[in-house]
Amino acid sequence: MSAPEKPITPLAAPVGSVWGVGEERAKLLARLEIFTVEDLLLHQPRRYENRRKFLAIRDLKLDEPATVRGKIVVAGTKRFKKGTRAMFECVFDDGTARLHCRWWQAQPWMPDWYAVNREFLIFGKLDDDKKPRTFTHPETELVEPGDDEFIHVNRIVPIHPLTEGLTARVMRSLVWRALEKFEGQIAEPMFNLHAGRPLTPSLSPAGGEGARRAGEGAAVATERRAEDCAPYPNLPTRANSVRMIHFPEELADVEVARQRLALDEFVALQFQIQSRRKKFEALSKALPCAGDNRLIKPFLGTLGFKLTAAQSSVLKEIRADMGGAHPMRRLLQGDVGSGKTAVAACSALMALESGFNVALMAPTEILAEQHFRNFSKWFEPLGVKVELQTGSRKTSNIQLPGGHASRITHHGPLFIGTHALLTGGFDLPKLGLVIIDEQHKFGVAQRETLVRKGNYPHLLVMTATPIPRTLGLTLYGDLDVSVIDEMPGGRGAIKTFVRRTDKLPKVFDFIREKISAGRQAYIVYPRVEVVDTDKDIKAVTKEFENVQKALAGFKIGLLHGRIKAADKEKTMADFRANKIQALVATSLIEVGVDVPNATAMLIENAEHFGLAQLHQLRGRIGRGAHESFCILISDAANEAAQARLKILEQTNDGFKIAEEDLKLRGPGELLGQEQSGEMKLRFGNLATDLNLIRRARELAKLQLDFPPGGVS
Ligand code: ADP
Ligand code: MG
Repeated sequence: MSAPEKPITPLAAPVGSVWGVGEERAKLLARLEIFTVEDLLLHQPRRYENRRKFLAIRDLKLDEPATVRGKIVVAGTKRFKKGTRAMFECVFDDGTARLHCRWWQAQPWMPDWYAVNREFLIFGKLDDDKKPRTFTHPETELVEPGDDEFIHVNRIVPIHPLTEGLTARVMRSLVWRALEKFEGQIAEPMFNLHAGRPLTPSLSPAGGEGARRAGEGAAVATERRAEDCAPYPNLPTRANSVRMIHFPEELADVEVARQRLALDEFVALQFQIQSRRKKFEALSKALPCAGDNRLIKPFLGTLGFKLTAAQSSVLKEIRADMGGAHPMRRLLQGDVGSGKTAVAACSALMALESGFNVALMAPTEILAEQHFRNFSKWFEPLGVKVELQTGSRKTSNIQLPGGHASRITHHGPLFIGTHALLTGGFDLPKLGLVIIDEQHKFGVAQRETLVRKGNYPHLLVMTATPIPRTLGLTLYGDLDVSVIDEMPGGRGAIKTFVRRTDKLPKVFDFIREKISAGRQAYIVYPRVEVVDTDKDIKAVTKEFENVQKALAGFKIGLLHGRIKAADKEKTMADFRANKIQALVATSLIEVGVDVPNATAMLIENAEHFGLAQLHQLRGRIGRGAHESFCILISDAANEAAQARLKILEQTNDGFKIAEEDLKLRGPGELLGQEQSGEMKLRFGNLATDLNLIRRARELAKLQLDFPPGGVS
């Protein structure tokens, strides 16, 4: 995200204005992205050490990292491998016992630094329970008698992220000095952020109320709380928080301070999101697109199923939006297979009935073509023109069953495409509605580009990656949200199993059995080609042959990103027609592909996929009446990786899975790199800070509704 315009403050001064930062150190700090005083003040410690009391070396326990304090009694470099390698070792004594410390790569500076009689603080973990007690590659800090003792010992001290040439001690001193000089300048950020005008401390009466409500649940940890600042009852001031995050009195203070600083971040973000939305509503007038049912009625008649209650109620919301005063900005969430396409179709028909055109954008060509096929079949009998525009082709020579293409059309067109709709310079006249399918693959910027193409068309974004609430409120905070929380009936269950590679022959027997019974299968690998550096990760091009052998007698297809569009299309058509019984593919098929007869899915090297992604992949099966089976193969030795996969055995609930994924892998995995870049937070944690985000939303709204100096 781009930072909101900040008022000019002394904190924006270059970090060189902190005593002790010269040109050299400024360069080192720049490596840590510390350029200004503020960057330094907000450089969050990665851990803390309680140096009020040190553990005796004698009392060190296995598997319990600890800090001890000792003097060097012996030190030296040992050469080995015929003198080509050197290890540095020194022995510390604290009066209770001795501790050996070693570094496998001796550095030239070590003998001077780790000199006999010098005193160090040493943080590390015992290698094993053998004698002598040994730390390998511990973190150490020289104790310099007298000098700044009150910063570095006898207290809880921060250990900051460092870079080569910058020690923990130096970094701590710099932060300390920055605090001494600038703490008084750390202002409460309740600014009117866009104008940089400071807010009167009392805010509005409603402000106190809203903030108090939102402040429930914050734990009381220190008496500093008494200095509550007006907008944030129960939380320390920003200045106090910055000090507490570096030099807490108690470890519990750290979390309180983090929450306060995270709240500031979230408020700024929410303010940005909400003012964007507000500005948008002020600027734009909605096109009347609610329709009159004249196409939807016959469409629903031929669809072959009845909409679920959830689908119908979402459509009601959409219709209200499209007949409203402001253009619709709606996010439609629904787990894989919940029937979002039918909702998209009905929404499109509303706009088409109203005399506008519609654009539908999908993240892959395969999906765009699948949509083209379905929508042509559904819409052309109604007299709606459907056009495909992807990177590799415009409305194509794709053979449509029944040859509807020749019919006379009265409505549309409905344009269907990939990103190319954005970038291909296509003319999309009279756009009433833009639908983006599988939104999680697009960034906010892309979403905006497409929408700006029209005269503020309505926007419906659909995502099958259920989005944890935290992300929903931040990344999609400017959108209204609808959820399809019900699956169409008549679906077979999906069973999921995690297995090791040695079970593969049995798994293939099982798949062969399913195919013999008339079903079809997906077989998924992480890579297109085997990479030398990681031979253990299987690739489709190589495994294709093995699968052909394992399933001899059946026709096997191959699908990955480097195959030509026309060939991909042919393969998909054959798979749909069951001319191909098993499809060997990359995660390319993750989104949207809909072949109800496919009931088995085998995913190898499953540990290489995110949970949400595996859930998406699994969503390709379980679409018909037959029972489906998803088998995840993984030899990951790592217990956490196995436990992660087990989650998929236990639940089919996309929301639960997305929450787990967010906790385990952070937002990047769920959002894609592009989007997670928009969400850089220093203190906020998108996996856990739902309450703070909710609170920030209220506070931002208050700032918008009661701008400083405005309404009282
Ligand atoms: P997704 O939400 O993952 O995009 P789709 O729109 O592809 O799901 O729908 C999955 C399957 O469910 C499709 O084959 C579709 O025809 C079918 N479907 C959708 N809505 C219903 C319904 N109300 N009743 C029965 N089947 C439905
Ligand atoms: Mg879909």
